[in-house]
Amino acid sequence: MEQLKCLICGMNINLKNYRLNENTFLEKNEEEHIINCPFCGVGKVYLDNNKALFKVESKELDEETLKVLDKAMKLEVFNGEFYKEASELAKNNEIKELFKELSSVEFMHARVHKMLGGFKEMPKLHKPDYTKYDSDDLLLEEARKREKHAIEFYNKNSKVVCSNVVKEVLKALSHVEKQHEIIAESRKEKTLEVT
Ligand SMILES: [Zn+2]
Repeated sequence: MEQLKCLICGMNINLKNYRLNENTFLEKNEEEHIINCPFCGVGKVYLDNNKALFKVESKELDEETLKVLDKAMKLEVFNGEFYKEASELAKNNEIKELFKELSSVEFMHARVHKMLGGFKEMPKLHKPDYTKYDSDDLLLEEARKREKHAIEFYNKNSKVVCSNVVKEVLKALSHVEKQHEIIAESRKEKTLEVT
């Protein structure tokens, strides 16, 4: 397998990790055909060992862009925490695994925003009580809504940021969330068929 680096999250992809989080992808990585970053989920145009990472000097960013990155980081932590909780609440083992993997991808997105914005810490957010989502179907519906919201957030805010690097990262992550939305939707239909 060729050596690959993710230009968005900076992780190296190798034989040991290329199958991580594979439930979050519509099309899975194969040893000789790597199409997603297993850590942040971006597509293969962003995987290259010889190109420069998508990096910015946070001091070169305007206030509005920093605000967008701060909100994006919070949104991803909020969703990452929801998925972590959802993986504990879910009853079906495949859905538990899916939520666990989605949680890890969303936390990686938060790390990407943290690096771009030069923020010192991950935010500590108030954790809502998610026990009202007392079926896998309700959890998947909540997941779908959150992904839809994240896609809208990225699409809207990629137009206001001052840096092309940040713009490109927001677009790349929006595509990742689109896959999550489709997967949550299709798992929901599957659960409905079973019940
Ligand atoms: Zn990545």
